[in-house]
Amino acid sequence: MIIDFRSDTVTKPTPAMLAAMTKAKVGDDVFGEDPSINELENLAADMFGMEAALFCPSGTMTNQIAIKCHTQPGDEVICDESAHVYQYEGGGIAFNSGASVKLLYGDRGRITAEQVAAAINPDDPHRAHTSLVCLENTSNRGGGSCYELAEIKKIQSLCREKGLAFHLDGARLWNALVAKKETAKQHGESFDSISICLSKSLGCPVGSLLVGKKDFIKKARRVRKAFGGGMRQAGFLAAAGIYALQHHIDRLEEDHAHAVQIAAAIAGKHFTKFVLPVETNIVIFELNDGTTAPDLVARLKEQSILGYAIAPNRIRLVTHLDITKEMTEKTIQTFNEL
Ligand SMILES: *Cc1c(COP(=O)(O)O)cnc(C)c1O
Repeated sequence: MIIDFRSDTVTKPTPAMLAAMTKAKVGDDVFGEDPSINELENLAADMFGMEAALFCPSGTMTNQIAIKCHTQPGDEVICDESAHVYQYEGGGIAFNSGASVKLLYGDRGRITAEQVAAAINPDDPHRAHTSLVCLENTSNRGGGSCYELAEIKKIQSLCREKGLAFHLDGARLWNALVAKKETAKQHGESFDSISICLSKSLGCPVGSLLVGKKDFIKKARRVRKAFGGGMRQAGFLAAAGIYALQHHIDRLEEDHAHAVQIAAAIAGKHFTKFVLPVETNIVIFELNDGTTAPDLVARLKEQSILGYAIAPNRIRLVTHLDITKEMTEKTIQTFNEL
């Protein structure tokens, strides 16, 4: 039995999800004729109380389309130093949008309104035009940390006052909603656009959604085509998304409980310097001198436990739909014996 904590992207569709996929009604989505995709987009827009949604192959694409729509070449985007949009999207902000980035150093990936206010460039021809603020909730490099809604609201007011667009990389927003007992609508009201993954915590094989206003999504649809993301009978994939939105959100509490239990076992080990606070489904821990992350990952692998060395002295474990109670218990036992 392999216990794979490398990412929540490694999940395979459940039999019930596969059954929903094979039964999907499909059509050509570039013509707007795929009933399953239309249903998924309407469902997502309704959940967030936003006007429209767009189904895309990946979260990188939904983020990059949003950034493209919100900026002009030469503009500046404000985000945390650890943000996926900056660190892990192949330099896409520069590549796709010709924009530069102002990096902030937040608390476990979370930036404040005060930091954003200080980072907005003055209206001066020497300076790049600041046009967009991107948040990430939960924060991946922050160990699955969640924003306080009150701070999001403060940044939203600031963006409105300064005429900046406000985008959320909500790849794992579902986890934050469950952990903080917040609703999708509360977030829909807070941002101009939100990117949400179906292929992470919700267990779909493929897919992300971008939600926003009607005009914005219309523009996004053209950018998706230009990025090569216009798919045809992708309703088979959308059907997995519909199934996941209906059946896989509430169960995220289990993943969070597993993460807390595993973190407790790791915290007491002689090789552990500290474990980042566990708020959702990600456990990140830093190692004392004398143990390197690749070494410990290799030792875990000998016990069929897969983790990810995210830095020379940091390891990340992510719980998800395919991690069972038994796997969690075996992992705890393995750490106890290491
Ligand atoms: C995974 C992830 C994305 C999107 O990733 P894709 O693999 O392109 O779907 C975006 N933001 C964050 C924080 C992520 O973890």
